[in-house]
Amino acid sequence: MARNAKLGLILMFAALMLPLIGQADERKQLAFDTIDRNAAQIADISDSIFYFGELGMQEFETTKLLKGTLEAAGFRVELGGADMPTNLWAEWGSGHPKIAIVTEVDALPGGSQKPLDFARAPLVPGAPGHMEGHNTHGGVASAAAYAVKQVMQRYNLPGTVAISFGPAEEQLASRPFIVRAGYFKDVDAIIYLHIGPVLATGYGLTNYAAISSIFTFHGKTAHGAINPWDGRDAVDAVELMDIGFDKLREHLHPTYRAHRTITNGGIQPNIIPDIGQIWWFVRDANMPDAKATYDKLVKIAEGAALMTGTTYDVKYAASAWPQLVNRSIAEAIQKDIDMVGVPAWTEEEQAFARDFQKSANRPVVGLRTKPEALGERHQSASSNDNGDVSWVVPAGLLNFPASVPGVEYHEWHAAVTPVSSISHKGQVAGAKVLVASIIDLLTSPDLLAKARAEFAVESKQTPYFSLLPADATPDVDLNRAEMDKYRPAMRQFYLNKTPRFD
Ligand SMILES: [Zn+2]
Repeated sequence: MARNAKLGLILMFAALMLPLIGQADERKQLAFDTIDRNAAQIADISDSIFYFGELGMQEFETTKLLKGTLEAAGFRVELGGADMPTNLWAEWGSGHPKIAIVTEVDALPGGSQKPLDFARAPLVPGAPGHMEGHNTHGGVASAAAYAVKQVMQRYNLPGTVAISFGPAEEQLASRPFIVRAGYFKDVDAIIYLHIGPVLATGYGLTNYAAISSIFTFHGKTAHGAINPWDGRDAVDAVELMDIGFDKLREHLHPTYRAHRTITNGGIQPNIIPDIGQIWWFVRDANMPDAKATYDKLVKIAEGAALMTGTTYDVKYAASAWPQLVNRSIAEAIQKDIDMVGVPAWTEEEQAFARDFQKSANRPVVGLRTKPEALGERHQSASSNDNGDVSWVVPAGLLNFPASVPGVEYHEWHAAVTPVSSISHKGQVAGAKVLVASIIDLLTSPDLLAKARAEFAVESKQTPYFSLLPADATPDVDLNRAEMDKYRPAMRQFYLNKTPRFD
């Protein structure tokens, strides 16, 4: 081809592409302006949820606030689906592509803490609180979905944007039920949203499969001294099950994890116990292996019952597939991460972070000033029930920098900063990346096709199966007594705000 003709083609191509590129930038700019304009509302939502401090399945105030906010923003909101009163699904638009944000808003027991105080200072002693920062998910997800709606309306984009706030993530208690109820059947892709110390995405398997079940043995009571030969000891069965599994450990893959607690070990020594109970968690790097170990565990229970002349029943408690994160979606999210960048931390915020790290006995590194580079995620041995969702629909992952590096979750230090300016700025950055990536998924059929093709290969290699027994129902009483105990004293700290997006 002549040089001029080639140049002509390039110019023609550039002229064709420019309006598209320009419009893509314009859409994202409108989304970013919407997020910036609503920064105070995002903080109000997330801070309100912090002070609600609600445990899994008891997220009543939290979901009431989110429902009100999203309905006022024009979303259709369903609360109570899949037989869980605090399961919230919201959506706007119609048809495909249908893109969902998946996240959670539950707190942790004993996490009550006065914000910004480096010393242990519960707001209500013993009460639950947000020592992982799930409160921040509420503001980020809602604001991002609202900004997507603004862009879809302005540019007449077809499709649907949805949010799934699943209850009780901390106890892996809801997602298998939400998946079973079919919520993701017509969803094209999801982005799983979680607070982090960094602005990051990633791909691959990010954590472990887990199966949690409670085994109860039933025997026959008798006097331990007078007629023990008439008794059948249910706690002996518990002990034998524990010993039996220890014999198995040597023959499991090095990747396995298994841990248990004895939840009923008898009453007093001179009563042969007719009830004994042991609660098990079995994990592995993939669900088929975790399930294989779990099936052996059930056989061991059978053997323990046989040896002791007892019977047993198994109650499903929870399960989670490892999260499978899609590389194509991760690459798109990474571009948005690089475009948005980490927040411009002030010197005061950096100094605060360093002082906090020092006081919490962590490496004094301050706040990250750069996003993480894209890469395969380290597979953590912990679990998240969102994993089930990621095996039925292509899933992306976004962590936004709203906590202080080195301060690990699930202990009170992590409850010091979820309502700080560091958290608020991290939430704004997270909402911007999230909205940009959803716009990518809504407007790029190529991206969705790539994500789907990748997902098809992976989900064919390891087809999804539900761990739920057919008659399993969600444990909606989970944490009820604990929450009822502390809620009256926690109410005095409620912010009583009614955030409305504009
Ligand atoms: Zn979490």
